[in-house]
Amino acid sequence: MSYLVLARKWRPQNFHDVVGQQPVVRTLQNAIRRERVAHAMLFSGVRGVGKTTLARIMAKALNCQSADPDVPCNICSSCLEITAGNAVDLKEIDGASNRGIQEIRELKENIRFYPTSGRFKIVIIDEVHMLTPEAFNALLKTLEEPPEHVYFIFATTELHKVPITILSRCQRYELQRVGFKSLSGFFAKIAKAEGVAISTTALAMIVAEADGSVRDGLSLLDQIFSFAEEDESGAVVVKDQDVVQVLGLVDRQVFVTLARAIMAGELGRCLEILEATYLLGVDLKRFSDDLLAFFRGLMVCKISREPGRLLDVAAQELEAMMELAAASSREGLYQFFQVFMQGAEELRHTSQPRLTLEMTFVRASQVGQVMPASELAHRLENLIAASGGLVAVDHSPAPAQKKTENIELSFRASNPSHKQQEIKAAWPQQPQPAAVCEPQLTLQPGLPLDPVGKNEEAETPPVAAASRATDAADKVVVELHQRDLVRDWQSFIVYVKERKPWMAQTLRLCDNPSLEGGKMLFRFDNPADCTLLSHHENLKALTTYAQDFFQSELCLEICSVTSERAEGEGPTPREERRALTADPLVEMVTEIFDGKVVGIRTGPKFR
Ligand SMILES: [Zn+2]
Repeated sequence: MSYLVLARKWRPQNFHDVVGQQPVVRTLQNAIRRERVAHAMLFSGVRGVGKTTLARIMAKALNCQSADPDVPCNICSSCLEITAGNAVDLKEIDGASNRGIQEIRELKENIRFYPTSGRFKIVIIDEVHMLTPEAFNALLKTLEEPPEHVYFIFATTELHKVPITILSRCQRYELQRVGFKSLSGFFAKIAKAEGVAISTTALAMIVAEADGSVRDGLSLLDQIFSFAEEDESGAVVVKDQDVVQVLGLVDRQVFVTLARAIMAGELGRCLEILEATYLLGVDLKRFSDDLLAFFRGLMVCKISREPGRLLDVAAQELEAMMELAAASSREGLYQFFQVFMQGAEELRHTSQPRLTLEMTFVRASQVGQVMPASELAHRLENLIAASGGLVAVDHSPAPAQKKTENIELSFRASNPSHKQQEIKAAWPQQPQPAAVCEPQLTLQPGLPLDPVGKNEEAETPPVAAASRATDAADKVVVELHQRDLVRDWQSFIVYVKERKPWMAQTLRLCDNPSLEGGKMLFRFDNPADCTLLSHHENLKALTTYAQDFFQSELCLEICSVTSERAEGEGPTPREERRALTADPLVEMVTEIFDGKVVGIRTGPKFR
């Protein structure tokens, strides 16, 4: 007795038996019941999803002699002839080998005649995209006005290669890859009917390998059934190991074990697993791709609420994957994925796959547990709080009250009339870039500004005096803060430390806080020092602390020296001038000697 391969033995003979493709099947059945079948149909989809099978079932249904609306009956002579493959009214053409204009001319000649036994002549052209342009052109006219007694059914794996003129004359049906559940259910049914014992894990491996193609899956099943041994009772038993061996796969459990070792940073264990896999003769490129897919699966488990719907894996493996995903952060999984993605890419170009893969493991083991920056900052905060801070700073009296006193004292001590004019000349007011908060530096109510205005008014014209008064108002606060900022800097850090310890630690790295154009400027030598501080939320919090401590509607700006430098070759002369004017030392000297800055010289010439 000749052996019939599973793919032929289990080829569906009616609509109910078709695996997957429910929407298409339903549409076709309805079309037949309502006698609304198009004279030209086109089935597209990847290999082995049932295009030709559906075309044949359609042909049977059209010519079925049964009175039952549930066609095909598979018992009438027409149905039996088609099943046996000797129906005269069904012409099956392989587009790949009969692609020229001559074949199409013959076909056209043939369909001019009425069917001999059935009601219709049916033409099935498989791989229709292979026809030559001339052949397609020869078909066009016939497709546009097909004879009443003729139906065309086309099948193609490459829809994009079919000319649009043909497509527009056909009713199109796109067949999907068959889903994991449908396919494993179908294969389990076959195994049972064939008297073969097979585990769900083994089935899952076959289904995953079939990649949505029924025919591919059936071929693999055939191969594995032949490979498996019989038990004492004579029944064939497929072991999971058989599938692994036949498919050249790696036991799925290996990925779980390997992923666990990678996540735990057990590099030695990873290398042992790789060694064992290598000795089995597994293709390492394939192994690396599978590992990448496994980590993709872990990510899906982490993100999706129903990972089972997105992943083609057995329930047992899914459980293990969920467990692994739960034990890792999303960031960590992403890092692993990136490492293995890069590894898979490198493997494509290497002649030393094993070494490349080993180095990928080394990289992966270095990833370790990546923690979100926010969580890290939070932990750090708790840690510093618990340790009571690393740097001890003497506690000053309540900052706010002291501040007011200082403002008044320093104001009265200085003689503003000359100094303000002069410094203003050296410090041109210019538009400031947008800062963190909108309200710019404003004057505190109750500040003793009046003396300035009155002193000046007597000697200067009213307009100039008024404008100077406003400038002076800004000036006073800015100057005062600049000096106070330096003096109270440590107290401010202590104040911040009581609220956010890590922030205080970062502020200690700030070289010289300064006030410029109504903004408090924190400069850092190293950009990495202020990355966290520059985050919107943190900057907002720090702004609140500064406003509270210094009792002023300050804006904050954080910058690193390198980022400043990167923009130009260094500070511009204007910036240098501003920095010099704002220098606490210069201010102190002018104050002590009651002098004024009459000029600032910078640049190579004066160095
Ligand atoms: Zn029939």
